[in-house]
Amino acid sequence: MTCIFCKIAGGEIPSHLVYEDKDMVAFNDINPKAPIHVLIIPKRHIEKVSDLGPEDASLVGRLVVVARQIANERGISEKGFRLVFNCGPDAGQEVNHIHLHLLGGRAMNWPPG
Ligand code: 5GP
Ligand code: ZN
Repeated sequence: MTCIFCKIAGGEIPSHLVYEDKDMVAFNDINPKAPIHVLIIPKRHIEKVSDLGPEDASLVGRLVVVARQIANERGISEKGFRLVFNCGPDAGQEVNHIHLHLLGGRAMNWPPG
């Protein structure tokens, strides 16, 4: 398995996890696009949003709930933050292991580029 995020989730690549439970981990993005940029991922390898099935609904919901918890801990719940899933080439997905971006700590533009 060569997936970098599987290696991070499995502890093969040591990284500072900001959250972990039996199904998911969260860690700071290596190349942050905002003062707060955390990636929340399932431990199970799922390539992208297009590959999700109905059985994954609670897992994906929990990614969002963990993002909300981290936003709260970082003090940006009220100022605001953005949650992003990039899916596929047109969205610029670079790592083919599904991940939820939590971005915050600055005002952001809409629509995104
Ligand atoms: P994507 O464009 O696929 O939605 O986002 C991938 C994100 O993963 C990028 O923001 C990139 O900076 C981040 N990233 C890529 N490789 C690593 C890594 O090895 N460690 C960490 N912490 N982040 C990574
Ligand atoms: Zn993976």
